[in-house]
Amino acid sequence: MTAADLVQEAPYRFRIEPAGAMRVPGVVFASRELVDAADRAIGQVADVATLPGIVDASYAMPDVHWGYGFAIGGVAATDPRDGGVVSPGGVGFDISCGVRLLAADIDAAALAPVLADVMDGLDPAIPRGMGRGAVWHLPGRDELTGILTGGSGYAVERGHGVERDLLRCEDEGAVADADPGRVSERAVERGARQVGSLGSGNHFLEVQRVAEVYDADVAAAFGIRRDQICVMIHCGSRGLGHQICTDHVREMERAMPGHGIEVPDRQLACAPVESPEGRAYLGAMAAAANYGRANRQLLAEAARAVFRRAAGARLDLVYDVSHNLAKIEDHVVAGRRRRLCVHRKGATRALPPGHPDLPGDLRDAGQPVLIPGTMGTSSYVLTGVAGAPAFASTCHGAGRAQSRHQAARGVDGKNLRAAMERDGIAVRASSWRGLAEEHPGAYKDVSAVVEAAEGAGLCRKVARLVPVGVVKG
Ligand code: 5GP
Ligand code: MN
Ligand code: MN
Repeated sequence: MTAADLVQEAPYRFRIEPAGAMRVPGVVFASRELVDAADRAIGQVADVATLPGIVDASYAMPDVHWGYGFAIGGVAATDPRDGGVVSPGGVGFDISCGVRLLAADIDAAALAPVLADVMDGLDPAIPRGMGRGAVWHLPGRDELTGILTGGSGYAVERGHGVERDLLRCEDEGAVADADPGRVSERAVERGARQVGSLGSGNHFLEVQRVAEVYDADVAAAFGIRRDQICVMIHCGSRGLGHQICTDHVREMERAMPGHGIEVPDRQLACAPVESPEGRAYLGAMAAAANYGRANRQLLAEAARAVFRRAAGARLDLVYDVSHNLAKIEDHVVAGRRRRLCVHRKGATRALPPGHPDLPGDLRDAGQPVLIPGTMGTSSYVLTGVAGAPAFASTCHGAGRAQSRHQAARGVDGKNLRAAMERDGIAVRASSWRGLAEEHPGAYKDVSAVVEAAEGAGLCRKVARLVPVGVVKG
């Protein structure tokens, strides 16, 4: 199965006809160039179409690329009442990895004279790199349970943030139905020392400038305007989420024969949503999701303290949204309302204007959708649109074009940093090798991805942001 097996149905829509064990078609939203770049991920989109209870189609977003079992950039919904399954591979190892955007009350011109101070403040204030340090040191088991059930809300309760923050978080900062009892001791051990830390490589905190606004009314509702300074944070649930994925994949592999489930790739291990293994995973996954949200809340607070001190500036939350999660949601499919388990892996929920889950001040604008690009090019803010396909989902980034290994070949981290600084982007890296793996050429063209997503009717552009300073994991 390759790009050549796809049939183009519309300018930004390609179809994989059901064949073999596929229960539904595959649908890839992309331009011809992006489809060709998707390569091995196309076969994964077809494999996902074989999952029990899958509804409508196995979808892929324009930034799709190869991942563990499911492609990154994949969206799949299953119907639990129809034997529908949940699969940890459809969420990914970094459970609830996502993006948070904060808007400063200063413009780029006002930040310029103090930018170095801000960057030097952020450098030690934002713990990052493999397993090194965190904002919250060694919380006790009770504290960790608070995080696993309360997410960002728990961090705010403990003085790390303001109530308004929670209104601007997906799920108001915490997923319901978290079951800390399903989180293994090993996962707790790995997570306990990492609450409030970025992690490595692809995770970052970036100071950005709003370079272009496409829809001034929606941007105003989001709280952003041209030339304004913003802070974008990308991170997830660290070792805790990773361990939960590992634990539950193993458990589901053991349970699959008993449920009569066969999958074409063992990385697609899954169990019915309504089974002990399915419920156990969803309870643990929700706990990891809350950990991921608390993580972003604590890092946002750390950034706020630096901006206050070094620039006399305030940071207001625009939005916080995950791009690795499975959620139970209501959707209308072929005219019928159904309660589905929607997997988004490297895909972002994009609620349209008027959706009841949006806070009042975003009701007319739609949900802010946060799309990081690369540390050297652009990032985007989008919004959801009514009547979109793929269960109100869109892309999550530019998407990798090269593996980490390929990307680092022939690129020297120190030289890369010097070149970026010459381009006016301040860089605070945690490792030269890690920085080299993240050079902008390692990713697809984010503007082409966003154009394809908009062209496919998945979302609408609101603003484009460019990097001013990057704190790299
Ligand atoms: P992922 O969650 O798949 O690891 O990453 C999401 C997206 O973040 C990537 O597809 C890439 O486009 C983007 N990204 C990775 N590093 C950076 C960075 O340093 N700055 C910005 N703005 N985006 C990045
Ligand atoms: Mn991640
Ligand atoms: Mn991510």
